[in-house]
Amino acid sequence: MVSAIKKVHAYEILDSRGNPTVAVEMATASFCAKAMVPSGASTGAHEAVELRDGGKRYNGKGVLRAVENVNKTISRKIIGMDCRKQDALDAALLELDGTPNKSKLGANAVVAVSMAACKLGAKTVNKPLYAYIASLARTKGTLLPIPQLNVINGGKHAGIDNDIQEHMLVPSGFRTFREALRAGAETYHLLKSMLKRRFGVSAIQLGDEGGFVPPLKNVNERLEILMQAIEESGYKGKINLALDAASSEFYKGGHYFIGKKKYSAEELVDFYADLAKTYPIISLEDGMAEDNWHGWQLLNKKLGKKIQIVGDDVLVTNVERIRKAIDLKAANALLLKVNQIGTITESIEAARLASKNRWNVVVSHRSGETEDAFIADLVVGLDAGQSKFGAPARSERTAKYNRLLRIEESLGKKARFAGL
Ligand code: PGA
Ligand code: ZN
Repeated sequence: MVSAIKKVHAYEILDSRGNPTVAVEMATASFCAKAMVPSGASTGAHEAVELRDGGKRYNGKGVLRAVENVNKTISRKIIGMDCRKQDALDAALLELDGTPNKSKLGANAVVAVSMAACKLGAKTVNKPLYAYIASLARTKGTLLPIPQLNVINGGKHAGIDNDIQEHMLVPSGFRTFREALRAGAETYHLLKSMLKRRFGVSAIQLGDEGGFVPPLKNVNERLEILMQAIEESGYKGKINLALDAASSEFYKGGHYFIGKKKYSAEELVDFYADLAKTYPIISLEDGMAEDNWHGWQLLNKKLGKKIQIVGDDVLVTNVERIRKAIDLKAANALLLKVNQIGTITESIEAARLASKNRWNVVVSHRSGETEDAFIADLVVGLDAGQSKFGAPARSERTAKYNRLLRIEESLGKKARFAGL
């Protein structure tokens, strides 16, 4: 069998924050594929477990145990399996792990293998990765996403407590992905010069996702300057805004804390509603904390008809939690992160469940990334329609944008853009 897996080799590499992560190379007799695993900072409590070694090495963040789990336990099980049978392969990984949250083998070990098999399967059948993923997901695989570009970083990604985490440009009023990305990048540069002029060079330091970390006091001031940058760059009406509050990070003892202010869930909904009235915000992610279902219901009831209410930490790309959110009418969009759940098959199932219920799907990077551009092919392969890959800067982010540019070009007339 030409698609039989002959070799699996894992090793430890560094992510964009300089922390260890897992890389896996997998080969058939004729082809080889490689996958690298991203890692979050504002991780959800219900995410699949990232295995870290503890101890002194890399301040406890080493991944040698996860690497060993691939090289010994996993490889023994999957050598000889067909790399094109993604569902059988992922089922074998789940069985081997045997825990509900992949804590035995480590989600970082499992996801690396699952991604590598997917890439190898694509090579074996001589298809571009996005087209191969489309065949697994039974989609067209021709839709280029509207990007959410995180240009002002806050919260954990900028080392700030009690803060809204991400302030994003959403260039949707364009006919192609290429034009949308260009408008986003031009606005990013304009923002950079505005910040430098106003606050000096220290204001253009970059956070974990490539956005700036300016000394602006609150979310209103940040959105205000984004609006100015959009206007000055000539894209008013074509670039909208999105926020990721990552509010699980500032939820303590039943209350939310932003800066020095304390909010109940009801008050926080009003706070967001005011922002959405003042600024062209089209999407709000993790407006409520991961287990505050009542807060999510309030938020979706008040704003869900007007804007996209995206669940990240609350859903963790997990079909059971997505189903609960659908039943409770707690959100209307899924943030999809492959390493939150751990396999490609489960990620596809999550996307399908969301789409079937007319939810939007946003495929997302992590704040700790690598040069692997897998998620660019994934977002097109799933026809998800939206991406969240950070600022249009730093190679671990632009690797994904650059891959999307190439996919759009190679699709030619078949390419559709989710905007406009
Ligand atoms: P993380 O943040 O990768 O640090 O978890 C990204 C997000 O919250 O969307
Ligand atoms: Zn988030």
